[in-house]
Order: sequence, then structure tokens, then C-alpha cells
Amino acid sequence: MNQFVKWTAAVAVAAAFCITQNANAQTDPRYKQHDRTRPLPTLIDPGTASTQKEAGRPPSDATVLFDGKDLSKWADSKGNDAKWKVEHGYFEVVPHTGDIYTRQPLGDMQLHLEFSEPVPAVGKDQDRGNSGVILMGQFEVQVLDSYHSDTYADGQAGAVYGQYPPLVNAVRAPGQWQSYDIIFHGPRFDKDGNLTRKAHVTVLHNGVLVQDNVEIEGITAMSNPVYKPIPEKLPLRLQDHGHKVRYRNIWVRELAEGQ
Ligand code: MG
Repeated sequence: MNQFVKWTAAVAVAAAFCITQNANAQTDPRYKQHDRTRPLPTLIDPGTASTQKEAGRPPSDATVLFDGKDLSKWADSKGNDAKWKVEHGYFEVVPHTGDIYTRQPLGDMQLHLEFSEPVPAVGKDQDRGNSGVILMGQFEVQVLDSYHSDTYADGQAGAVYGQYPPLVNAVRAPGQWQSYDIIFHGPRFDKDGNLTRKAHVTVLHNGVLVQDNVEIEGITAMSNPVYKPIPEKLPLRLQDHGHKVRYRNIWVRELAEGQ
């Protein structure tokens, strides 16, 4: 076999391998293409988008974590009632009462929430409208007032804290409602606690892509992030960083394995 034939054969094998890999990733071997026995996707009501004045309506298959009325779906770190303040359809961090956690453990999910930064803005850098959406209580998507206020890139609004700056700064002014739409796939471990899959996250900030399926390097509070074995679901956590950040319209759609 001459070199050209060998090279061509190698490319052909590689291409076939790639096609097989893609086919496995995108199709279900139980069904042929255009198979009419394949179940159709569930019909849902997609809800409505929020405006600055009022919160939108969640999709019909979402689990609502805050509907503007009470914090019954949330607890403090000890499992007692969350002490943050509910009023006018939102809740607000009561500084130094501690982070709050969903009573329901959550893992792989699509998460929607809205937040609003304090007016007037006070402080600077990390000490300005700081809170956080901490996925599984471990992986923080930063909430910060980054409107004409600089800090380190991997600590501004929309950052995976300490790991990935947002692709752009899609922030709105303090007092305006902003949204995060987060698609999260948690880590996996084998039965001996060895990491088999890192967590991944996609984040849209005010509808703009700021994190594109990034691979989370470990617990974001750590300066050298590592993973520690955790279950597939843990409570979602919102951070009390001492600032009166407001939240509203929080809902989640849990993702099944393979979604
Ligand atoms: Mg924070």
C-alpha cells in the first residue's frame, strides 16, 4: 500500500467514526428516520415573556419556585423558613440572614429567574449588588451590578465565578429587571466517587448568550476548583452577599438523562 492509499484509508476510517459518533449522539437507535411510531414531543403552553412592569407566565410543564407570593419553596441552611423579604411580587435579600436553598433538590435543569439590582447603586467592584445563583449549592453564576462598574472579568455579572467571564456584558441598569436562563448538566461520579463527567452550563443573560456550554472546573468558591462527590441532585442556592438584590419569576424544568 503506498502512502496515499494508507492516508486515504485512515481518513475514511476517521470520517466513519465521526459519523457514527454523531449518529449516536443525535438519534435514537430504536427508531428509523421519519418513523411515525416514534412518540411526538409533549405539547406545552410556552408561557409568556416578562416585561419591566410584570413577571411573565412560566411554561405549563415548569415547576414554579417563586410565583410572587411566598417563599414556601425555600429554606435557610438549616431547613428553617427563609428570612428574605417578600413584597410586590418579588423577594429581596435581607442582608446577613444567610443564603437560601430550594427545599427541592435539583440537578440537570433549565432554570429561569429574574433579578433587579439595588437603587441607588452603592459600593463598587464586588461590593455592589452582589448575590449569586449557586447551582447545586456548588457552582455560582454571579449576580452583580456590572452596569458601568468594573471588577475582575471572571467575577462580573454572568460569570461562572472565578472560571469563565461572560462572553459579553449584557447587563441592564440597576432597578431594571434582568433575566438569567440557565441550562445546567450536573457532574457524575462512579460508585467509588471518581468524577466521570464535569458539570456544564449555558447561560443567557437578558436573552443574550454569555456562557456557551462551558465545562465547570469544580466548586466555584475554591481558588483551585476541584470536585467532591455529590448526589445527582442538591438544592439550588441563592447567595446573601449583604446586598438587597431582588428576585422574581423563578421556575425550573428538570431535564431527564440524555436531554
Ligand atoms: Mg456572588
